[in-house]
Amino acid sequence: MGEQDTTLTELDAVIVGAGFAGMYMLHRLRSQGMSAIVLEAGSDVGGTWYWNRYPGARCDVPSMEYSYSFSRELQQDWDWTEVMAAQPEILAYANHVADRFDLRRDIQFDTRVSAAHYDDNAMRWRVTTEAGAIFDTHFCIMATGCLSVPNTPVIPGADDFTGSIYHTGRWPHEGVDFSGLTVGIIGTGSSGIQAIPEIAAAANHLTVFQRTPNYTMPANNGPLTPDFLARAKADYDEIRATERQSQAGIIGYGFGFGGADPEMPTDAILDTTPEQRRQALDDNGFAAVRQYVDIGLDMEANELACEMYREQIARIVSDTKKAEGLMPRGYPIGCKRPVIDTDYYETFNRDDVTLVDLRNGGIEQITATGIKTAQGDFEFDALVYATGFDAMTGALLGIDVVGREGRTLKNHWEAGPRTYLGLQIHGFPNLFTITGPGSPSVLSNMIVSIEQHVEWIADCVADLAGRQALAIEPTPEAESGWIEHVNQIASGTMLTAPSCNSWYLGANIPGKPRIFMPYVGGVGAYRNKCDEVAANDYEGFRVYSADLTHLQE
Ligand code: FAD
Ligand code: NAP
Repeated sequence: MGEQDTTLTELDAVIVGAGFAGMYMLHRLRSQGMSAIVLEAGSDVGGTWYWNRYPGARCDVPSMEYSYSFSRELQQDWDWTEVMAAQPEILAYANHVADRFDLRRDIQFDTRVSAAHYDDNAMRWRVTTEAGAIFDTHFCIMATGCLSVPNTPVIPGADDFTGSIYHTGRWPHEGVDFSGLTVGIIGTGSSGIQAIPEIAAAANHLTVFQRTPNYTMPANNGPLTPDFLARAKADYDEIRATERQSQAGIIGYGFGFGGADPEMPTDAILDTTPEQRRQALDDNGFAAVRQYVDIGLDMEANELACEMYREQIARIVSDTKKAEGLMPRGYPIGCKRPVIDTDYYETFNRDDVTLVDLRNGGIEQITATGIKTAQGDFEFDALVYATGFDAMTGALLGIDVVGREGRTLKNHWEAGPRTYLGLQIHGFPNLFTITGPGSPSVLSNMIVSIEQHVEWIADCVADLAGRQALAIEPTPEAESGWIEHVNQIASGTMLTAPSCNSWYLGANIPGKPRIFMPYVGGVGAYRNKCDEVAANDYEGFRVYSADLTHLQE
């Protein structure tokens, strides 16, 4: 740690994090006349898109939709070049937004928040940075990201490796030149599946260490034509309105470049014959697996879809051992976060790509020159961790958050995250969590969910000022009721199947409580619920006046 900075600054709001959530939150609060600052650990804006610069990184939601809607001028002026833009373009967009709305003057970079403590008497938060600066603030808004704390698994011998080590979530800004190198990569989630084809093309040899094969679908990405852009911009009001009332905040506008929204399947896979399923694969490849209505509802139907999926892998990957190694088994399609790819399976037809299917013998240790597994030793010059994140709770629990009467967030969340609407936590007045656990967040186009939370929070703090109220926090009953609801609607879905191990459930981090964290009810229903709560005098919240009497229960 450098020199201690013990300055004290008084503000209306401190926002932690300068990704898409923190940037928009700052803009909204400033436009309401509030004094606010964003504290950001990184050296610039963009969050996810600032940190994840690995080769192949791009969004998997159409960019026309994975972008802010709050400024009509912004959405008319910005031209995306591809259906799903690559990381440099998304980061350029974040920078454009920061410049356009003059955000940087109220963002302090290279500043990691280490603690946020509530002062019961003053009814204010004291937010402390690693350097020791203190911000005294009425509202503390966590825009710390659901996927911002990289997970590097503890593997014996990790420090012995003498080559270069990278994590997809902390990629060097100057890029990495893999030419002439042999490379090992651990992990086949979205990040690994995007990076593997690109690293394979650049390196001399790539060895992929795969613990669980994934279900991934072809991205069908491509350039956006001027005609398409013009049409989408003309339709923007309708696109945004539809997204906001949809299940996942995505309408798939023009997916496949045609401008038509995807059709919902109506056929049941359980009604098909093996010949019909083979024919469907002949006609549509992997997309055939998605064309049945019952695979998300019935395990037997799901397993038939998994069989189709495996057959399609065998059709693409010529080496039968590699093909077998890439086939997911024993867990349903729809349990983990959906993945899309460009040439993922085709990459395994290269002679310079080795697959190590860890189901046949796991990693035993990292050595000075590579990885030792139960099925042999593998050597390489550089090692890439594509091992994901301590999702949803990692960044929040990374801060020492202490609420009313000394209660800690760590204790409150010991058995898993507890929130009301994913927005607030009982015992932590005036602390807000943008896309917090218990909200649709990672099950949606996150910019739609970010905008909805930012706007709800901004309206809420304006409302409090209007009533001369000083604080808001949920009741314990409302919090318990919401968590029960979050769990209840996820139960029985593929997302919580007993055979499912996903980061949605915390299953990727040893010792993390197994709890389904996001809200599966859909962004439309969720938005309506949040609006209803606010319109109903903040039902489920307590609003406090200065003397701590309850203005309402
Ligand atoms: P982030 O972008 O994660 O920003 C949080 C910021 O908070 C970070 O910059 C971090 O440094 C900072 N921070 C955290 N803790 C502290 C602290 N203690 N002190 C100071 N600063 C702190 N979502 C989609 O909807 N569609 C996609 O296609 C998509 N693609 C993705 C691809 C990748 C590679 C990843 C990792 C995620 C992707 N996501 C996608 C999810 C993505 O995280 C969100 O879409 C969105 O960018 C999140 O914005 P945010 O501002 O909430 O969080
Ligand atoms: P992830 O989905 O959690 O995948 C991590 C991978 O590492 C998994 O294959 C996991 O295997 C493996 N792994 C973890 N620990 C391991 C160990 N000790 N030994 C061997 N393998 C290990 O992480 P991610 O790929 O970074 O993606 C996280 C999320 O970020 C995504 O789900 C998505 O929401 C977002 N994202 C989106 C995009 C996009 O396309 N837009 C791209 C990247 C990321 P197991 O499955 O066995 O745990």
